[in-house]
Amino acid sequence: MSLTAVSSASSIPEHSGASVRHDWTREEIRALFALPFPELMFYAQSVHRLHFDPTEVQISTLLSIKTGGCPEDCAYCPQSVHYDTGIKAEKLMSLDAVLAEAHAAKRAGASRFCMGAAWREPKDRDLDKVCAMVEGVKALGLETCVTLGMLNAAQAGRLKASGLDYYNHNLDTSPEYYDLIITTRTYQERLDTLGHVRDAGVHVCCGGIVGMGESAEDRVGMIATLANLPVHPESVPINMLVAVEGTPLARGQRGKLDPIELVRTIAVARITMPESVVRLSAGREDMSDESQALCFLAGANSIFYGPKLLTTANPGRDRDMRLMNRLGLVPMER
Ligand code: SF4
Repeated sequence: MSLTAVSSASSIPEHSGASVRHDWTREEIRALFALPFPELMFYAQSVHRLHFDPTEVQISTLLSIKTGGCPEDCAYCPQSVHYDTGIKAEKLMSLDAVLAEAHAAKRAGASRFCMGAAWREPKDRDLDKVCAMVEGVKALGLETCVTLGMLNAAQAGRLKASGLDYYNHNLDTSPEYYDLIITTRTYQERLDTLGHVRDAGVHVCCGGIVGMGESAEDRVGMIATLANLPVHPESVPINMLVAVEGTPLARGQRGKLDPIELVRTIAVARITMPESVVRLSAGREDMSDESQALCFLAGANSIFYGPKLLTTANPGRDRDMRLMNRLGLVPMER
């Protein structure tokens, strides 16, 4: 069946979505964002169904293993030392405490356990401890993911040797908007870390944030950068800004993004990175069930599950289970 046979949108190319491309032009991506909503959703769903069971949602749990005190100045982040957000800096959690949380996540139905540390980059002695956590979590039968800041090639190799499955390092936004959000590390440094992770043979989790006051063209630029990486990230988290008091992006300074723009961003990510799991990530706590349902229809097929996302609120497990039941969605098997 060709997409054009059942769609009135002449801009949806025949056989599109079957192959994985890395040569997306900004013009093409701009045109996807501009499609009438029903056409965009149809296109995204068609691509989704070529590569995934649309009823399955991958469930991850995220734990902050080292909170606050980060020297970086990411304008959205309550864990930066540059902003007064009331977050207290804590030490790296103990191995036993992390494994207890991983046990609980597994019992609650998570298939992947993600551990985040608020560092610019890990020190070698800290990396030893994180590697022990990765080994322990893996031994429980969970997939592992960590986000520790920038990595060099040797550090990426050590994490791979410990059995790490995924490394999260987001591009956050377009190259053009980036300098207005972070000044303490460059876009190129982020790309370099992603290259080291990829070269080490660890799966890449990389996405961005919408609702930070960026323009529609910045959302185009962010997706274009992600979709034109040499290999698409296996996991693409799309976050809606959670505006935290004390950060430069606290609400009031910037208007809240229309949730439909988030849905469009997810749909374009789904179309341009057809084999990637697209995660509806931060920001779900403030979203209606109906908006989340649209995100799933647009091709999102992963969520973070559990009441807390590092330091910000996330929907409770009961609300998520009710929503998944209402929508007939089931956890993705590994
Ligand atoms: S997003 Fe990460 S690197 Fe940036 S300030 Fe927060 S913890 Fe630090």
